[in-house]
Amino acid sequence: MEDTLTLPYAAAQAKAPTKRIPVAVLGATGSVGQRFVQLLDGHPWFKLHEVVASERSAGKPYGEAADWRLDTVMPDDAAALPVKPLGVELKSRLVFSGLDSAVAGEAEDDYANRGCVVVSNSRNHRMDSDVPLLIPEINADHIGAVERQQKRRGGRGYIVTNPNCSVVGLALAIAPIERLYGIEAIHVTTMQAISGAGYNGVASYAIIDNVIPYIGGGEEGKIESEPRKILGRFEKDQFIDAPFRISAQVNRVPTIDGHLMTISLGLRDRNFVNVEQVREAIDNFRGEPQHLRLPSAPRKPLHYVDGDDRPQPRLDRDREQGMSVSVGRLRPCPLLDLRMVALVHNTIRGAAGAAILNAELLEAKGLL
Ligand code: NAP
Repeated sequence: MEDTLTLPYAAAQAKAPTKRIPVAVLGATGSVGQRFVQLLDGHPWFKLHEVVASERSAGKPYGEAADWRLDTVMPDDAAALPVKPLGVELKSRLVFSGLDSAVAGEAEDDYANRGCVVVSNSRNHRMDSDVPLLIPEINADHIGAVERQQKRRGGRGYIVTNPNCSVVGLALAIAPIERLYGIEAIHVTTMQAISGAGYNGVASYAIIDNVIPYIGGGEEGKIESEPRKILGRFEKDQFIDAPFRISAQVNRVPTIDGHLMTISLGLRDRNFVNVEQVREAIDNFRGEPQHLRLPSAPRKPLHYVDGDDRPQPRLDRDREQGMSVSVGRLRPCPLLDLRMVALVHNTIRGAAGAAILNAELLEAKGLL
């Protein structure tokens, strides 16, 4: 079944670069930035070389500027790096961005126009007509848009993006079903962890003993638009959206990490729906990162988790170092056709881990 669900893959494992590639992280002091620093520690292909943040942090050693909130010790090499101000000339060509979206749009454009490869988490450029919005297991071929973007910029620089943290979980969970039966309509309700708002994002007094049925910054709009680009086609130099419609309702809940979502799907080919077949398709789903054996690729991007009460954030978010999406409770839906639950680690597979996987794909395809 696997091969009928997949794109034409590269035949062999990707070669490691001869020397580790120096990288910079923009927004390195923030919630996503700290994950970048953590995940790049000991990375076989990339080496953290420069950290960049706001004027508030610039000039200080990273160890002093970053209010480290992760439950591993800050890497010594990173702690010693001086924080550079945004806009400074960088020595690294590969630049990861975890910048606040208020400044990311212009800053990322600026670095790409100077010849950098910017691999971004921020929302600003995701829907641009020549910027790939990548989940490499689904749409690795969308990197074809890079050439057109380089022409527009008149140089070697370009931007690629990864989706909103909830969208990574949603798009991966539905991808095998879209390929099996086609999807017509999606209704999704998210329960999103507080780390998704950044360290200063939600006051503890507001979220403890509570659920907030709203997330600002156009969260529902992102969930309703980004999956259509990701599961759409890249043809004749253009992105063509997948035709399904999405209705999203989002909630902030008092978990630290891991966005949980309940999903109902209306299918195009509804007469042949076989729940067991869908479950197998989810568990057997693989993509380009698995075939290329990229360093951050999970063995399985999707895990079907048995148990009436799974997946759960605390028990399932760290599956495959936080790079796999967990799916469970797949069953018929009395209103639409199928329903299920999905869980994604929002700052790993939903942010920094996703961007690092994207950069590994670019290196494997000779685009760095
Ligand atoms: P955050 O914790 O607030 O961190 C923001 C970072 O941007 C900090 O390093 C901050 O530096 C820097 N920054 C803010 N204003 C700046 C300025 N004027 N000039 C230069 N740097 C500036 O935010 P976050 O949660 O990490 O989110 C970062 C980005 O990733 C956002 O665009 C967000 O939408 C996206 N994202 C987040 C998640 C998630 O789960 N958190 C998931 C996917 C995508 P200082 O420390 O010096 O202020």
